[in-house]
Amino acid sequence: RTADLTGLPTGIPEALRDEGIEELYPPQAEAVEAGLTDGESLVAAVPTASGKTLVAELAMLSSVARGGKALYIVPLRALASEKKAEFERWEEYGIDVGVSTGNYESDGEWLSSRDIIVATSEKVDSLVRNNAAWMDQLTCVVADEVHLVDDRHRGPTLEVTLAKLRRLNPNLQVVALSATVGNAGVVADWLDAKLVESDWRPIDLKMGVHYGNAVSFADGSQREVPVGRGERQTPALVADALEGDGEGDQGSSLVFVNSRRNAESAARRMAGVTERYLTGDERSDLAELAAEIRDVSDTETSEDLAKAVAKGAAFHHAGLAAEHRTLVEDAFRDRLIKCICATPTLAAGVNTPSRRVVVRDWQRYDGDYGGMKPLDVLEVHQMMGRAGRPGLDPYGEAVLLAKDADARDELFERYIWADPEDVRSKLAAEPALRTHLLATVASGFAHTREGLLEFLDQTLYATQTDDPERLGQVTDRVLDYLEVNGFVEFEGETIRATPVGHTVSRLYLDPMSAAEIIDGLEWAADHRTEKLRALAGETPEKPERDRSDSDDEPGGFQRASEMVADDGGGGAGDDGDGADDTDGGGGDADAFETDRTYPTPLGLYHLVCRTPDMYRLYLKSGDRETYTELCYEREPEFLGRVPSEYEDVAFEDWLSALKTAKLLEDWVGEVDEDRITERYGVGPGDIRGKVETAEWLLGAAERLASELDLDSVYAVREAKKRVEYGVREELLDLAGVRGVGRKRARRLFEAGVESRADLREAEKSRILAALRGRRKTAQNILEAAGRKNPSMDEVDEDDAPDDAVP
Ligand code: ADP
Repeated sequence: RTADLTGLPTGIPEALRDEGIEELYPPQAEAVEAGLTDGESLVAAVPTASGKTLVAELAMLSSVARGGKALYIVPLRALASEKKAEFERWEEYGIDVGVSTGNYESDGEWLSSRDIIVATSEKVDSLVRNNAAWMDQLTCVVADEVHLVDDRHRGPTLEVTLAKLRRLNPNLQVVALSATVGNAGVVADWLDAKLVESDWRPIDLKMGVHYGNAVSFADGSQREVPVGRGERQTPALVADALEGDGEGDQGSSLVFVNSRRNAESAARRMAGVTERYLTGDERSDLAELAAEIRDVSDTETSEDLAKAVAKGAAFHHAGLAAEHRTLVEDAFRDRLIKCICATPTLAAGVNTPSRRVVVRDWQRYDGDYGGMKPLDVLEVHQMMGRAGRPGLDPYGEAVLLAKDADARDELFERYIWADPEDVRSKLAAEPALRTHLLATVASGFAHTREGLLEFLDQTLYATQTDDPERLGQVTDRVLDYLEVNGFVEFEGETIRATPVGHTVSRLYLDPMSAAEIIDGLEWAADHRTEKLRALAGETPEKPERDRSDSDDEPGGFQRASEMVADDGGGGAGDDGDGADDTDGGGGDADAFETDRTYPTPLGLYHLVCRTPDMYRLYLKSGDRETYTELCYEREPEFLGRVPSEYEDVAFEDWLSALKTAKLLEDWVGEVDEDRITERYGVGPGDIRGKVETAEWLLGAAERLASELDLDSVYAVREAKKRVEYGVREELLDLAGVRGVGRKRARRLFEAGVESRADLREAEKSRILAALRGRRKTAQNILEAAGRKNPSMDEVDEDDAPDDAVP
């Protein structure tokens, strides 16, 4: 019984009881018996929705009660604030909760006053690199979804971070929460933790496959769900759940599909089903919710979502704005939204149980794999585990779809009878080791090759590998790479991070990204004059390919120079003073004057989009031509040699970086978000994502440029600021004022209020008119701009001068 729990801060057992948690679930009780509240390390491998969060809370709260400090590591940034909000209910018992996201390069000093801190593993890794003082005060760390150590991209960071934290505090309590996996015992061995493994669930789960006119469940039972001619299976299943078993027992459905686009189109289709089951009250509540959704942003995604929601369905994927996601999840829990069509990204982390789960797509496109790849059993089980709302449903139903009897049997074999896979460390992959070895050296965890290997010995990889040689070999290759690029240096046996190496580690950059950025900026410094000429549209003295220039290898990108020559004719004619300068043939930096900035924003955006730290946009059919053409047009702006079209993979990569850079250029060119989502086939959340990553990488580039004394530092700073605000150059000053933003900045500017100083001095009526009469907004903005008397009370926008309204 929760009332009998000891070792927790005063009042907590009673609070749990008041929440309706009177008895621990069996796996929770087992964890407590294993010493969870006495500081024992523990791996809890239990199904989704069986109360892992409470296991974590009991560990953290008891640790804090003993005077300690706890850290909760989440796998996704989107989950951090959600967890924080959940833990904040303990604040009235004197527990301070903090969340650490965003800006990588900081030591998060303010967090030292918190009892419970929530952060992503990347953030924790970065805090360790920046020597956050409170790191060694930690007494308890929770790793949520620890089975993700298996993830190629994020796994190694979690793995290394846990190893470092344990090394910093040998008595650290580690509580690792895992889905049911094949080898939880190995994970427990690695962490020297006890294992609680169970497939207990708070509510029964019936798994089955729909084929023909019925679902066959694993327990041998069947449910008739007829599908009419020309009808599809999913809408039939969603309708059937809503029919319920009579007596108004309506059931909601969660439909998992394999792409965002599919989530959106499925939601549109399901809205046609759900709308038939709405009451009048629900209709008006949903109309209100749709209006709230439109208020969040005026993008097409927002509009599509609002339309579906008005009819009782929704889509859910990582491209959605966070506010949208929360609105959808809450309304689904309140049973107002009847069906969510989702991609699996957040399936694991978000608490949205549903009567029925339909796993419509069990294959997904995988770029590394080069085609459609079946999902892991682990993943499908996690989706299926979302079925069944405790206290509401008699049981949950999770359904896969088959076209024929053979497919049905295959799905039973593949997913329903199958055990989840083992998790395997991905640490020995070079990109992962590159980053983590540099950080391990830079933050002083090891100073020699032997020391590094000893540190790596504490990872899951070492526990799992049967080829101890391999880690040594990869380590040597990576150390070579770091040395060649000037990030570490050797002095006898001792390895030290160079100053740039330290910076790279603290900036949380993949060393390969740093190398790419440094190369690009140095290349720009070397080619400055020549490129400025090309940008001014001048004819180079000789075609570029004939110049003896060590960087521009022949066979490179040749047509561009011809294009410059073609275009240049007219340009040079217009440009009187250019003609005298051409005879230098390049290289004489002082002889050429121009007010153009170099590198250009596009050049810089392209540079950061080329790094492995940026997820580039895919090239769709037709894109190759479009961006090849653009690549020719904008050739002088690129910082580095353009790969030839014969270097197939490199050229393709270059183009997808260009597409991503172009999105950023549109963003800083003040193109409407809506247009951008349409043009690049992305969601508003993706624009945010690209913008934030670019901001971070450009910030890193700025630091590197200033450390290496390159004069591009100013161009980089401006390009970064423009990305931050999403504006053209002339709006930078205005957009920096809190509450202004890109759209309002443009309206103010058009109305003749062009700067922060203008905000302090211009007629208030003019400002009010430009802000479309929004008094409160106007007043806040004037306050932020430092105006003496910001009050808007007596101001009438109709008094604005005629030229104030664009
Ligand atoms: P998991 O993290 O394992 O997916 P959660 O921790 O989100 O699952 O728990 C699912 C739900 O079960 C939550 O709403 C939680 O409040 C509830 N819950 C957890 N433990 C208990 C308990 N002992 N008694 C009743 N409800 C519980």
